[in-house]
Amino acid sequence: MAITLFKKAREIITMDEELGRLKNHDLLVMDNKVAALKKEITREDLKNNYLKDKNMDWQDIRTISAEDYFIFPGLINTHHHFYQVLTRNIREVQDVELFAWLKYLYPIWAELTPEAVYYSTLVAAGELLKTGCTTSVDQFYVFPRQEKLTLLDEEFRAAQEIGIRLHACRGSMSLSEKDGGLPPDRVVQEEEEILADTSRVIEKYHDPNPQAKQRVIVSPCSPFSVTEELMKESIKLARHHGVMAHTHLAETKDEDEFCQEKFGFSPLEYMEKVGWVGPDVFFAHGVHLNNEELKRMARTDTGVAHCPISNMKLSSGTAPVPEMRAKGVPVALAVDGSASNDASNMIAEMKSCLLLHKLQSGITSLGPEDVLQMATTGGSELLNQPEIGSLSVGQAADLFMLDCNRLALAGGLSDPVSALINTGTNQEVDLTMVAGEIVVEDGRLKNIAEREVAAKTNKLAEKMLASKADH
Ligand SMILES: [Zn+2]
Repeated sequence: MAITLFKKAREIITMDEELGRLKNHDLLVMDNKVAALKKEITREDLKNNYLKDKNMDWQDIRTISAEDYFIFPGLINTHHHFYQVLTRNIREVQDVELFAWLKYLYPIWAELTPEAVYYSTLVAAGELLKTGCTTSVDQFYVFPRQEKLTLLDEEFRAAQEIGIRLHACRGSMSLSEKDGGLPPDRVVQEEEEILADTSRVIEKYHDPNPQAKQRVIVSPCSPFSVTEELMKESIKLARHHGVMAHTHLAETKDEDEFCQEKFGFSPLEYMEKVGWVGPDVFFAHGVHLNNEELKRMARTDTGVAHCPISNMKLSSGTAPVPEMRAKGVPVALAVDGSASNDASNMIAEMKSCLLLHKLQSGITSLGPEDVLQMATTGGSELLNQPEIGSLSVGQAADLFMLDCNRLALAGGLSDPVSALINTGTNQEVDLTMVAGEIVVEDGRLKNIAEREVAAKTNKLAEKMLASKADH
């Protein structure tokens, strides 16, 4: 059993309603959970109350002096496309909106290989861990026809190696251009094949246990890339297996027009028609939802993964987040794919979220505490995994530490939450722990060689990009 004792943390922001913020406290981690949060945990206390194995000695326990550190619960990213690491910052799509952006990128994504999925997962998950994120949803939905169906397996392999908690979406596309959808033929699949592989992935990887490090979500890509039939079958499959369901919704005006033209409904009305509302459903974006629709989302407990940077970058619009929160729509935070962000950094996302809504909806519309709530307990509520997102006894040992003596924080320590979100330009944290394992130490990833992984990923990205020129 691994035991870590954080001594005398300057402040622990627990995000637990009862505990609040704790100053000068010790935090004990045993195995994968928080075992104690106390003013002081002495050797005697530890021996008598926590160490069942009496042969264990003080030396067997890793002690970390946290006097100069803030400790936060690990952040939760509720929407991403890790593979897009390979196509970020492409010049030709820096100034186009979503549909044109997708149409340019689909043929490049059609060149994805298992190796490319593996390395892009390491990069995206590595960036997330280095910036305090311990749990991520990832929606993988490009299964090129020439590839075997093992791409999502590569993602799980990489996530396990690097040590992130992963809720992987088995994504899908079945409505190609020739049938009135957006993606080309090369990246869409037969629906039978999609459903069979989704069941396979759930059976192989989904862990329903409270402390699960890997879960599977059923996740057709969007109303404009799958058929109505697949939407209906997907939600049935998710409910049959007791897993969550997730898709993109109400992201752009173009999508709204597409749904009105093709189905005669708004995007949300369409999802209601195909049975896609409820506490087991959450949508990425939710930018273009009217007041009535927000009320229906709240009533059905249907959630939103808010992606402010992506929405700004693709000029999609501003999601009505303050209204969602006021009406009781479950809303969490997300970075979205690496090609529409172009980073995997939840602290930067929190800052953008705060500034966007202050500008759009007024100075009191959203505060740092609200944004941190969205990025922690908001995420755990959205994903139905209450064991993550806050620190108290029995909760998952997912946390990160921030050094108060870093230059960018100097002079700004009066409020740790606001310091985290508002100050500084480099959001890399000092230590990240997932399920009791330290995966980032002194700001470096422990389980991979960062430069080698980046170099290999650059080569893979160059190769994929070159394929665009060949077509
Ligand atoms: Zn997305």
